Amino acid sequence: MTKHVTHWIGGKPFGGESGRRGDIFEPASGHAAGTVDLAGPREVGAAVAAAKAAFPGWRDASLSQRAKVLFRFRELVDAHSGELARLISSEHGKVVADAAGEVARGLEVAEFACGIPHLLKGGFSENVSSRVDAYSILQPVGVAAGITPFNFPAMVPMWMFPVAIACGNTFVLKPSEKDPSASVRLAELWAEAGLPDGVFNVLHGDREAVDGLLRHPDVKAVSFVGSTPIARHVYETAAANGKRVQALGGAKNHMLVLPDADLDLAADAAVSAGFGSAGERCMAISVVVAVDPVGDELTAKIKERVAGLRVGPGDHPESQMGPLVTKAHRDRVASYLDGAVAQGATLAVDGRDPDVLGGAGEGFWLGPAVLDHVTPDMDAYKDEIFGPVLSVVRAGSYDAAMELISANPYGNGTAIFTDDGGAARRFQNEVEVGMVGVNVPIPVPMAYYSFGGWKDSLFGDSHVHGMEGVHFYTRTKAVTARWPDPSHGGVNLGFPTGG
Ligand code: NAD
Repeated sequence: MTKHVTHWIGGKPFGGESGRRGDIFEPASGHAAGTVDLAGPREVGAAVAAAKAAFPGWRDASLSQRAKVLFRFRELVDAHSGELARLISSEHGKVVADAAGEVARGLEVAEFACGIPHLLKGGFSENVSSRVDAYSILQPVGVAAGITPFNFPAMVPMWMFPVAIACGNTFVLKPSEKDPSASVRLAELWAEAGLPDGVFNVLHGDREAVDGLLRHPDVKAVSFVGSTPIARHVYETAAANGKRVQALGGAKNHMLVLPDADLDLAADAAVSAGFGSAGERCMAISVVVAVDPVGDELTAKIKERVAGLRVGPGDHPESQMGPLVTKAHRDRVASYLDGAVAQGATLAVDGRDPDVLGGAGEGFWLGPAVLDHVTPDMDAYKDEIFGPVLSVVRAGSYDAAMELISANPYGNGTAIFTDDGGAARRFQNEVEVGMVGVNVPIPVPMAYYSFGGWKDSLFGDSHVHGMEGVHFYTRTKAVTARWPDPSHGGVNLGFPTGG
């Protein structure tokens, strides 16, 4: 039986009117699992209109009323996390435990947003001039849109909407059309939590839906997470249309291993961070930079660990790594293996034709692969592969390794593995990357910090969630107030100063 996924607008399902639909696959079997409506201008208009209509009421909802809804939403998502994880796994391919992890990380943002009464406190200065007070207040911006990638169908949307909604905005989520079901389930849970209709809407679609949102005059803020070319397009188009925008792009995350590092710890970390979620994570480690002379020993340890990884369907209890999201993506990722070898790399582990628990069938399978002796001129180094391919680059020194990382156009995440505190401190000080791990391979900031890269990994100046999220979804208003008392001084044409 196949499913059909429709939009969620104004607190209920909203059937597509454009006549366009996309396929949803089950990556483990390779079968079509259903279809999703792809929005055209009418659906974009309906979603934004519903969000706009809901804004005045939600903006005026008291902070405690908003916090109560958020607490209920948090409890409901937690209660349904197993169901959400299975839904994500079936459409994305990642193993269920990993999908449960993404729900948990998304929930942490909802928990952060439950503290909204505290987070929205402004500033107050008494007597900026005689008997004049000044204060600042944080107000919502209006309708916010979120456009999200396939690789975290629950967590990445939850980086955005709990904070946006807690701040008093209304929201239109345009999730990835490849795995759209989790967002609709989250919308149902919002409704159950008591969120007024129209505050949270889900609009499915592709470029047409995105461009419709970017150009819509009633959308005031756009949050985007996805690949760098689309992030750039979203940033430029939304900004040209007068919106505030944060657009997080792709990544090429380097893990620097110094000769004094614990190589067993480093190899465990490289394999976990390289192949978790089949490498389809923006914070996955894709390049290990081994500083001489540890390259051979480290690669041997990585190979040893990769040999023990079990590949299989997301819902198989022994699977550690699932399939890739689509056949086209699987084929593109696999093509880098021959490409790198032709350009001079060594194929240390070939992931093609893996042993799949329960049999490969028609699924989009690619096992873990390791390329050694990769150099910066190779396509496997330059491109974001976004799959289970780990490249090992050799560097002669710390400085050479640092130069390599700094020269890379991406700057999302990076990590250093060393026992030398001074080296680690120098690295975190010098590296041109937004999120840094010290003996931690995937340094994803907690919800109360903010997530975001540098360089081509982020367009805009605001990271997501944490206080940067609160600032992104609010406008500051500064008020200067005087309540005259009987002794006020009459007309004064002088320039106001703090006297
Ligand atoms: P993508 O850029 O193809 O799609 C992201 C979103 O943009 C989707 O909602 C999609 O429908 C929409 N989109 C696609 N093509 C478009 C176009 N031409 N015009 C307008 N909108 C378009 O990304 P993806 O393949 O879904 O996700 C993987 C990418 O996301 C990787 O590059 C990964 O690094 C990146 N990512 C980055 C972060 C981060 O925090 N920096 C987090 C997760 C994923």
